[in-house]
Amino acid sequence: MNIQNIRKDFPILKQEIYGKPLIYLDNAATTQKPVSVIEAMNDLYFRLNSNIHRGVHYLSEESTSAHENARKYIADFIHAKHTHEIIFTRGTTEAVNLVAFSFGEKNIQQGDEILVTEMEHHSNFVPWKMLAERKSAKLIVLPFEEDGSLSLEKFQSAITEKTKIISITHVSNVLGTINPVKEMIRIAHEADVPVFVDAAQSIQHLSVDVQDLDCDFLAFSGHKIYGPTGIGVLYGKEKLLDEMPPYQGGGEMISSVSLDKITYNELPFKFEAGTPNYVAAIGLQAAIKYLEDIGMQDVIKYEHDLFAYATEQLLQIEGLKMIGTAKKKTSVLSFVMDGIHPYDMGTMLDKTGIAVRSGTHCAEPVMQHYGISGTIRASVALYNTKAEIDKLVENLNKIQMILS
Ligand code: PLP
Repeated sequence: MNIQNIRKDFPILKQEIYGKPLIYLDNAATTQKPVSVIEAMNDLYFRLNSNIHRGVHYLSEESTSAHENARKYIADFIHAKHTHEIIFTRGTTEAVNLVAFSFGEKNIQQGDEILVTEMEHHSNFVPWKMLAERKSAKLIVLPFEEDGSLSLEKFQSAITEKTKIISITHVSNVLGTINPVKEMIRIAHEADVPVFVDAAQSIQHLSVDVQDLDCDFLAFSGHKIYGPTGIGVLYGKEKLLDEMPPYQGGGEMISSVSLDKITYNELPFKFEAGTPNYVAAIGLQAAIKYLEDIGMQDVIKYEHDLFAYATEQLLQIEGLKMIGTAKKKTSVLSFVMDGIHPYDMGTMLDKTGIAVRSGTHCAEPVMQHYGISGTIRASVALYNTKAEIDKLVENLNKIQMILS
């Protein structure tokens, strides 16, 4: 992997912020886009733009087939058995809402239990809580251990005969923990409970194979895997998706409408009401192709080494406490510093050209667990370097001196 060549693919990284070279370490929030992604979308607008699925003319047929090729490409990338198991959404959040609403409508009754963990992003917590409230069901929250890992024993005992669905994050966006989702799914399936995997923070850093995991649902966002905003993916097993009612009504999700009867379309269109973001779907395909052209295994290895280096260097800073110290982690480094508010540190780092995120990262229960108001979060991607980590450490030390 030639990192300098890779960096050249990302035009945004070339700029200076306040006269300092940009060091972008906010990749868990969103990743930057390579030229090939921007060009793929531009090309569609320049040459082929036309609403899909509805036209008989050349442009519509071409953009429809580009959109459906993107679906096939994504299905192959996550090893889905069928292309129609890929539903395009606006992102992970919409995918969770879709399942919480549609699966929940059909399968959740009063007194049933929905199991999530304490480390979920609000996107994978609030929709389930809303479902529980709508149906007078119970949302059971599995706490995490002090190091930010999940206990498989506690997970197993949290499943009861009332548990109807489990939703877990593959990688925590605050703690960086890689959860043993394959093992958790196996345990859940022994009790016949389907599992939803939030892959928003894993799809860009790990190999994700839905058949190997045997997950029932899985979701991710395009913008976190070097693709555009406004597009995401919900994978669901064919049988489950077939049995679920539509989530939104409108064009595309119907096969026929009369004044007194509506017949719904087949998968995947049943869940794609309205004009889809076909331009972003093509951008997402280009992003995945970009990763595959580099080689996912090379990306994983590079990021693993960079992450280990960053962890080691950060831990040498006096007064810095890492939040989340599980054995298996990726990409995300959350920390607090003695006597320094995360917002102050974030603001001062910005003046040195370094972009990190400070706050609760849409995971307030994690903050409550540790009794903190927020963390500073640096998150790495395939274009970051050890030299950038050195700069981060150097500036953390300098700012610490100034602020204390
Ligand atoms: N789940 C996790 C673990 C996340 O980190 C995020 C975003 O940060 C989301 C879900 C929500 O993703 P989006 O806002 O793209 O829908």
